[in-house]
Amino acid sequence: MPKTPIEKCATCQGQGEVSGITGPEDCPDCGGLGQLPSALTLTERRLREIEGSCARQGGQVELDIRWLVDQVRRSRHVLVQILAAGQDAEPQDALASRVHFLANGVLGVYPVDTK
Ligand SMILES: [Zn+2]
Repeated sequence: MPKTPIEKCATCQGQGEVSGITGPEDCPDCGGLGQLPSALTLTERRLREIEGSCARQGGQVELDIRWLVDQVRRSRHVLVQILAAGQDAEPQDALASRVHFLANGVLGVYPVDTK
C-alpha cells in the first residue's frame, strides 16, 4: 500500500511546539510530532471530540450524536473494506478503479492528483 505524503502541521509549522501560558507546550493538533496524522486518524479524533462534547450534555442529544457517530464509523469501515477490495482487483478493471477512486475521495487515504 503506497503511503500518503506526510503533511506538516500548520499550527506549529512542523516544530511540534506552540507558545503556552507557562512556556512552550506540545502542539495540540499534532501532539508534538510536527506532522499531521492520517486523514483516518484525524476523522476518528474529531468523532471522539464530538462524542465527548455531547456526553457532557446528556439526554436525547447525546443519544442522537452517539447513534450518528456510530453510523459514520460503520460507513467508514465499509469504505475501507471497499478501498482494500479495489486494490486487489485487476489493474484493467475500470469499475474497480472507479470504486477505489470514489472510496478514497471520502477517506482521503491516498493523495489525489488534481492536475
Ligand atoms: Zn503541530
